[in-house]
Amino acid sequence: MHIPNALFAPDRLASLHQRHLMDAPKDPALDRVTEFVARMLRAPVALLTLVDRDRQFFLSNFGLSGLVACARQTPIRYSFCQYVVAHGEPFIVNDARVHPLVRSNPATRELNVVAYAGVPLITPDGKTLGALSAVDIKPRQWKPKDMELLNALAAHVVTELELRAKKAELGKELRTWQVNETERLTAARLTVHDLRTPLTGLLLSLEMLPQMGTLTKDQEDLISMCLRTGAALKKLIDDLLEIHALERGDMFALHWTSVAPSRLADQAIEQVRALAANKSIELTPIVMGEVRDVEVDDEKITRVLVNLLANGIKFTTPGGRVGTSITMTGESDSAAIVFAVKDTGLGIKTSDARRIFNQGLRLNESASIEESAGLGLTYCKRIIEAHGGSIWLESVYGKGSTFFIRIPCRGLVSHKSLFNSTLKVKRAPRRKNEKQGGEITDRVQT
Ligand code: ADP
Repeated sequence: MHIPNALFAPDRLASLHQRHLMDAPKDPALDRVTEFVARMLRAPVALLTLVDRDRQFFLSNFGLSGLVACARQTPIRYSFCQYVVAHGEPFIVNDARVHPLVRSNPATRELNVVAYAGVPLITPDGKTLGALSAVDIKPRQWKPKDMELLNALAAHVVTELELRAKKAELGKELRTWQVNETERLTAARLTVHDLRTPLTGLLLSLEMLPQMGTLTKDQEDLISMCLRTGAALKKLIDDLLEIHALERGDMFALHWTSVAPSRLADQAIEQVRALAANKSIELTPIVMGEVRDVEVDDEKITRVLVNLLANGIKFTTPGGRVGTSITMTGESDSAAIVFAVKDTGLGIKTSDARRIFNQGLRLNESASIEESAGLGLTYCKRIIEAHGGSIWLESVYGKGSTFFIRIPCRGLVSHKSLFNSTLKVKRAPRRKNEKQGGEITDRVQT
């Protein structure tokens, strides 16, 4: 038998193989198509066939039985679909026994293929992958409406196959991107880490300068400005390293202790007292409800509170106030401590509030690193999430903001399980209305 050359076209075969559909498992969505063809055309068999150079594979079939049904393929010499592929056109056989092209095809004798109507599966770039066909075991006259239905369904199948190919391609790209991104982050983390040592050396040297001789007032001012900027840079490096550690799921970074919430707030307030005094901001006394101890990483939660208090001071004009309150919500296992840091400062617009916890976001783009690096709230969010808690804010633009953090009293219900499951943090129940992960809630107002 003469096998037409178009069947072997290298670009067609390459397109077929790229899709990894030969020998693909059965697919219910495609099986519905062949079943539909058989029922609509009242044919005993319907096939969705991919045609390779030496075999045809039934991506889906309806009505086949025996060995062929099991194997889901035949050698190419049994194929009627090869003629569809060879010409990229429908192939119609009303009676194979007298058809010049297929009368000696073994499928006619051995598989009882007597009538055949097949249409091509043509990709958008013009490659014929195979055929959608109906088969009968007795002679029949295929009608134009039979061919119309086959053509419509073939187009549907091609769209479906294209979508799958796109999905597979995107999945592959995503995996490559993830690998690159991980490598990029690791390189960035190492670079940031390496900045720490020279910076510490630089700061120490600057601190020693005044001991080496009398300095003019200008020199002293310059040195203290350098020290302030250096300290801000060091804080930035520390925040970045911790954010990276938490994003990598490095939960061992947390050191859990049971601590009184008031102690956390006191420690934080002490650290910002000078900052507030410098700017003539009043730090109002802590407002305490009845609270119980909380299980947290003492140092990190203190740093979160310092971040919130420092922001409050930074974004409030002299003469304003910044205060902290501590309350408890829920009972027994669902008990949680809520810290609120309130200021009478600039306030935050709702549109900004929704993205304020994004890494690197600064609402005032012209601010210097010393004033604002846009990392503090990202750090707070990550730390609070790692404790199974949440962070949100309420703000009236022009009047002030209150940042809330809610921490379950027992922190992670079982933070010991983290030794097995990195970031699979079992979170304590959240309050109604409160979104997970530091998202803004509908309590944001302007
Ligand atoms: P940073 O303080 O280093 O800029 P943050 O992540 O802490 O970084 O804050 C991001 C931005 O959110 C700040 O640049 C500021 O514009 C805004 N912001 C944060 N806290 C307050 C606040 N209490 N009042 C007004 N704006 C704030």
